[in-house]
Amino acid sequence: MTGYLRYAELMAALHDLGGGARLMRLGVSRQGRDIPLVAFGPDDRPAILVEANTHAGEVTGSAAALALCQRLAAQADPEVVTVRDSRTVYIVPRLAVDGAEVYLSSPGMLRSAPVPYPDPDQPPGLDPEDLDGDGLIRLMRRVDPLGEWRGDPRDPRLLVRRRPDDRQGPFYRVTPEGRYRDFDGRALPPRSSPFGLDFNRNYPVQWKPEATQPGGGGYPLSQPETRALAEFVAARSNLSALLSLHTTGGVILRPPAEGGDDALPELDRALLQGIGDAGERLTTFPCRSTEQAFNTGSSRPTVKGVDDWAYEHRGLIAYTMELWDLDARAGIAGYAQVGVGGLLKRREEELAADELARLRWNDQVLGGAGYMPWQPFDHPQLGPVEIGGWDPKFVRQNPPLPLLGEECQRAVEFALCLAAATPRLALGAVHAQGVGPGTWRVRVHVRNEGYLPTSATRRAVDAGVSRPVKVALSLPPGATVVDGPAEREIGELDGYGCARTGPWGPPAQADSERWADFVVACPAGGRVRVEVHHPRGGSAMGEVIVP
Ligand SMILES: [Zn+2]
Repeated sequence: MTGYLRYAELMAALHDLGGGARLMRLGVSRQGRDIPLVAFGPDDRPAILVEANTHAGEVTGSAAALALCQRLAAQADPEVVTVRDSRTVYIVPRLAVDGAEVYLSSPGMLRSAPVPYPDPDQPPGLDPEDLDGDGLIRLMRRVDPLGEWRGDPRDPRLLVRRRPDDRQGPFYRVTPEGRYRDFDGRALPPRSSPFGLDFNRNYPVQWKPEATQPGGGGYPLSQPETRALAEFVAARSNLSALLSLHTTGGVILRPPAEGGDDALPELDRALLQGIGDAGERLTTFPCRSTEQAFNTGSSRPTVKGVDDWAYEHRGLIAYTMELWDLDARAGIAGYAQVGVGGLLKRREEELAADELARLRWNDQVLGGAGYMPWQPFDHPQLGPVEIGGWDPKFVRQNPPLPLLGEECQRAVEFALCLAAATPRLALGAVHAQGVGPGTWRVRVHVRNEGYLPTSATRRAVDAGVSRPVKVALSLPPGATVVDGPAEREIGELDGYGCARTGPWGPPAQADSERWADFVVACPAGGRVRVEVHHPRGGSAMGEVIVP
């Protein structure tokens, strides 16, 4: 089942998952809805968290998260079986449960939550409203000698910026479809949304107050939704990675958000890019640092989201996946290719050519349904206007329904790849060699079979949130460990993704296996049990019977 599901429909689909899915409650939203959390696998296995629909309108993410649940619950293909049998996948399919419900049941757009923020008393201006009753808030244009826009003979739908030498109208002023509050005859700008809160600016990472960083809320984790997510991440010591599903752009974003790749330890940059490049092969979406994608060269302060928090404070491998790329469908290079800085430098002729390409795609693929041509409308305040433009919700912000499945598939493939890359402890041989009468050297061969190191990142070690691998012996009655404690720490183990090859010298090997030695006094025939454990790498058990 693929679709844009209302809350009750989404919850019903989650209840019906079966296949070993555990449906739990992450927390409770401000309006009292349960925020669903689905787990596949127990809490002591290496794990990832997939979190979606933090932004109310980015409902593609929750469709993709549900598709991941259904794939894990139902399918028996080898990739899914590997993940399901050895890893745990936690899925929060919809964090903005209140906001998404407003988005899916009304014409309005909103960022995260239907909470008046920051200031319900705004200056006079235009309130977006669905005046023509088609269920969407499109654009409104009216003829005005002050107009900044004009038509274009190549396509009656196309608006282009008025040039300095344009004297011959008609010229248009363009706003969202809506109605002015306290109308005084002037073309006042649109009022900003009364629901300006942005959950992804509410994490305790480079948080800043409203004037510097709009949407951040009163203080870090001020919202019940973000607090619930942060508490979950901090409490689950088995997590190695986080994937946050958003729209739009067709890109896999990784840290850092500022400072260039030099801001990361070289190992982390290589691991993040290595998994991201695998994601590109699976999804066609390139992996870029958030800074590469969003740097505009301006002095605007960098904003950081849940992925930066998860990496910087918890040392998780973290990505934001921006699903749905209308521009790529239309054959245009978007910010995934040229960065937001590149988009801002596009000249007027290039912007017009881009919009023509989008309109062509709309005609050829959607039969024109994605864009409503300008229709005359008698505006209660302005008189004759025209209403038209893109479907802002299910063409621009989310894919049209027939294309949703492809986007879900991309997220599912990348999530499975990420889960399979997590560290995984295993036991090689366990030997007992006689070293004296009734005394044995028990040698335990410990391995990490995952791509990631047991710590997941270098950052986790530097931040002090990873614990070393522990090897513990359980001895039969009458036996003792004679050279130290029965439980020992052997440090972190690399994963195979940690091997580095420089421009010179032989290919490097990762430090992904180690021997732990114990000297044990034990009666002949005694059974020595071994357990290795790492919070992020899971556990493995073995035993040896002394001769
Ligand atoms: Zn988003």
